[in-house]
Amino acid sequence: MSPSPVSFRRGRSAGYGRRSRGGAIKMRLILALFLVVMTLASYYAGTRKEYNEITGETQRVGLSVDEEIALGLQAAPSMAQQHGGLHPDAQLQATVDEIGQKLVGATAAGETSYQFDFHLLADPTTVNAFALPGGQVFITMGLYKLLESEDEVAGVLGHEIGHVVGRHSAEQMAKSKLTNGLTSAVISAASGSSYGGNAQVARVVGQLLNTKYGRDDELESDKLGVRFMAKAGYRLEGLVRVMEVLAEASGGNNPPEFMSTHPSSARRIDRIREEIAKYRRS
Ligand SMILES: [Zn+2]
Repeated sequence: MSPSPVSFRRGRSAGYGRRSRGGAIKMRLILALFLVVMTLASYYAGTRKEYNEITGETQRVGLSVDEEIALGLQAAPSMAQQHGGLHPDAQLQATVDEIGQKLVGATAAGETSYQFDFHLLADPTTVNAFALPGGQVFITMGLYKLLESEDEVAGVLGHEIGHVVGRHSAEQMAKSKLTNGLTSAVISAASGSSYGGNAQVARVVGQLLNTKYGRDDELESDKLGVRFMAKAGYRLEGLVRVMEVLAEASGGNNPPEFMSTHPSSARRIDRIREEIAKYRRS
């Protein structure tokens, strides 16, 4: 039977037996509080605010650029594996990488230390594209085969480059580090054990593969995508067409992953058109 809060309070002035039970609870509370404080301290020590020259924003990130690159490279094989591996057609792989590198080479993305690689995944049914932190970018065959022009492929890749240079994963990491820290604090309080280094890395890689970006991240990536396409000389309508293709593929009720956390496609297309108009005026 656990003591009620009332008996706990009374325990202070009551007999020895009661005080020790209350004391144990108090010790456990102090320990839990200590762990929460330590977790919060490590959150602020482990994350930092950095100015992003490409987006012009100051953001709190949980990973350094080097860590982003290392983790992205580490997670890339698992990402490919989840979608049937890389597509075997070397010619198609080269085409996808060329379009990506053209976007990087012509824009501020190429002035960063990120190492961009663009991969076509064999998966013929999933309609999706992803970016791991650090510059590993993927598009599924399921999406690629729906695209009709180089401009549309550039639209997809430009958007994904936007996630990389926008450091959206590093931002998500900064946020989720707090939650995970609290969870592991609770676990270590219960079991008295702590995590080893490898388990930590495996956990972060697992998390990367499941990262869902927020709505604002998607809009920012659309905006950056348009900007990169303009610089590289692509027709900006390519990205509008991508959104139409994605909306069609979603068939209303069951949207592909690419759209799952995204704002509604109609609203997004409006925002992209507004962005395109800016480049027309200038
Ligand atoms: Zn996105």
